[in-house]
Amino acid sequence: AELGLHAVTAVSAIRDVVMEHEEALGNLDAIAGDGDHGIGMRRGVDAANAAAQKTATLEGGASVAAVLTAAGEAWSEKAGGTSGALWGTAFIAAATALGNRDSYSSKDAAVAVGAFADAITTLGKAEPGDKTMVDAILPFRDAFIASLDSGTSVVEALKGAAVVSQEAANATSALRPLKGRARPLAEKSLGHPDPGAISFGLIVERLGQHLD
Ligand code: ADP
Ligand code: MG
Ligand code: MG
Repeated sequence: AELGLHAVTAVSAIRDVVMEHEEALGNLDAIAGDGDHGIGMRRGVDAANAAAQKTATLEGGASVAAVLTAAGEAWSEKAGGTSGALWGTAFIAAATALGNRDSYSSKDAAVAVGAFADAITTLGKAEPGDKTMVDAILPFRDAFIASLDSGTSVVEALKGAAVVSQEAANATSALRPLKGRARPLAEKSLGHPDPGAISFGLIVERLGQHLD
């Protein structure tokens, strides 16, 4: 139950960073997309945060998996938009991979991040280089797992992988979008990073700071 409360504060930290960047994410999505990435992420993470809190305050408390599953379901349902469905589904996949335990190892963290990334690519079917959040998520996953494999702590691995992820998100500026709503306006998108890649990088950066 105590671990469930850690999951609640992590979701709350994600909500904070999305709120801080809501307007900027919307502006970035307006360049070649429909401008709703900020409001969509905000709606999704608000619902996820409320669901996480509600689940954790159930009598007897709740597991990490229960909190994150409730958060993911609410995120998918309330966000609308492509990114909301992807984030919600990925949360549920990570929660399922973590399961119900009394404690977690760094191996569990690696498996959860792997499940998160797999859920995004399975549902969205974007390939690396399509200019989507996948271009920030796969480098994040690879850096995170490589650091853990070399004996780095979960928090340090997360902070290092977040830097890698943000660099990869910025590097999407050079790409033309091949998936999602930005595709028809691909030329406008050149020189600007993908909104979903940028929001992912901001979120993992904040999670690293939060857990530090
Ligand atoms: P919508 O595109 O439905 O308006 P958002 O604006 O919230 O939803 O999210 C847009 C982001 O979703 C894009 O910047 C991109 O990162 C991500 N995205 C779109 N399509 C896919 C896909 N098929 N796979 C992975 N990510 C995608
Ligand atoms: Mg959009
Ligand atoms: Mg939209």
